[in-house]
Amino acid sequence: MSYVTGLREVGDGLYAYLQPDGSWGWSNAGLVVDGERTLLIDTLFDLRLTEQMLGAMRRAVPAAASIDTLVNTHANGDHCYGNQLVGGARIIASERTAAEMVELPPGAMAALVEQAPQMGELGAFFLDCFGAFDFRGIELTLPQETFSGALTVAVGDRKLELIEVGPAHTRGDTLVHAPRERVLFSGDILFSGAHPITWAGPVSNWIAACERILAMDPELIVPGHGPLAGADAVRELKAYFEYLYEQARRCRAEGMTALEAARAIALDRWADWGDPERLVVNVDNIYRELEGDQQPTNPLVAFEQMATLARGG
Ligand SMILES: [Zn+2]
Repeated sequence: MSYVTGLREVGDGLYAYLQPDGSWGWSNAGLVVDGERTLLIDTLFDLRLTEQMLGAMRRAVPAAASIDTLVNTHANGDHCYGNQLVGGARIIASERTAAEMVELPPGAMAALVEQAPQMGELGAFFLDCFGAFDFRGIELTLPQETFSGALTVAVGDRKLELIEVGPAHTRGDTLVHAPRERVLFSGDILFSGAHPITWAGPVSNWIAACERILAMDPELIVPGHGPLAGADAVRELKAYFEYLYEQARRCRAEGMTALEAARAIALDRWADWGDPERLVVNVDNIYRELEGDQQPTNPLVAFEQMATLARGG
């Protein structure tokens, strides 16, 4: 399947909005339509990109001129910073996602991008990741309705299942499943063709999330980033995490730090995946799980380690 920017129908009344190349901040979104009723899955990282997406949706589906419901799959800004452009929509997210959203407001991202040129290697890496986006003028727009575990949402006569599988990528990761069409909007539980990043974890819980997806037997997955995928991509992700566990356990027993382990681990059949610097954060999360530490890696420390690894240091 081709991987180009824009909207494409992935099932009857189901649409994916894709943003190649799927790397840092270039997220996907979804639209579900039944007659005049509409549900949007995620907004994008800034107002310009979200406006472009909403325009493409309105041109393809006139009912999308008014979005009834918005679901945010998780708290990262590339999935919710455009929320203010969907005024009037009922916004739903898991309780943990709603709580996490206030922790990194858009103003803080704008300030980081502004200061990045004075921040050396870390700043350069940060600009590589986020320099293409414009965080000015964004007003954090939070969900008014939250749930824990699972929630069924109606879009006209259609029923969607919201399934909370976090903490994994973030604390409250939520899947949106259209069971009749066997289409799954996975949010960042799946990065297709790229390394995942464990901001929350533990990784064992992410493996459990993969198993839940495989049990649903989806025919098509709209990942949070990257091209459309099938269940095979989730099998590969699960195998990747299991492989990392095995490797991290060995490296830890040899006394390596997480950064040394990330340098030493051969990427095997995942060597062509994008954003390989994320490996260090995944290994660090596994180290913490092995040590019984419940705290995920501090995001600033994670960026410092990724900047070092990305530079080949
Ligand atoms: Zn994302």
